Amino acid sequence: MKIEPIKAFEDNYIWALRHDGHVAVVDPGDAAPVLRFLEASGDRLCAILVTHRHNDHIGGINELVARYPVPVFGPAKEAAEVVTHPLKDGEILRIPALGAEFTVIEVPGHTLGHVAFYSAGLLFCGDTLFGAGCGRVFEGTLDQMHASLGKIAALPAATLVYCAHEYTQSCLRFAQRVEPENHHIAARIRRVDQLCASDEASVPSTLAEELATNPFLRWQSPAVIAAATLRLGHPPGSDAETFAAIRRWRDG
Ligand code: ZN
Ligand code: FE
Repeated sequence: MKIEPIKAFEDNYIWALRHDGHVAVVDPGDAAPVLRFLEASGDRLCAILVTHRHNDHIGGINELVARYPVPVFGPAKEAAEVVTHPLKDGEILRIPALGAEFTVIEVPGHTLGHVAFYSAGLLFCGDTLFGAGCGRVFEGTLDQMHASLGKIAALPAATLVYCAHEYTQSCLRFAQRVEPENHHIAARIRRVDQLCASDEASVPSTLAEELATNPFLRWQSPAVIAAATLRLGHPPGSDAETFAAIRRWRDG
């Protein structure tokens, strides 16, 4: 399987999963760039995967399925207006045309029904984890988001993380405010600034890279705990409280 980004809107990535003339797309918020991709590649659309219900992730689906009647795999808990194959935590999704299967991981927080798809070292996580950042907690609680990120953090460190937005550069600026002394963050800023200057994608990253630089996965790092302590006015009582303090800081 070969994975390529299709750019949409300002900073969305619709991931194209290609194999042997077939392609599945993840989170097609806009149909037009996907239709152009199909035209240019000659690939046949075989499936659509959806992580959550926001329009910048599902807005293109009606137009795509009107032309190509393919299954739409997505969360059991939301986006029912477009999802034809609702999936729950732990369920396996098979796409024979790609020779691939994915495990569904429920990751509530950004939205209540948000899911991620994991397949043999690849993670499609929508708006849950970003490069050096995480999604805003719109519907769930900060505790839920912390638990969801904990599920992702437990995946193999070599996992490639395919998120849905090019936010890495601004997320890294915040990461550096949380941990000014973290040299992994400084090095990543140099790399990502170069990529952005030449209009290249800063994603996918590896989970290992996120564990070293993403303040929203680093609730056990002494520097992050110290930053949370300053924000809270007292030492955080748990990993979840550390995460919540950093997430609230980012929101403010
Ligand atoms: Zn979203
Ligand atoms: Fe989004």
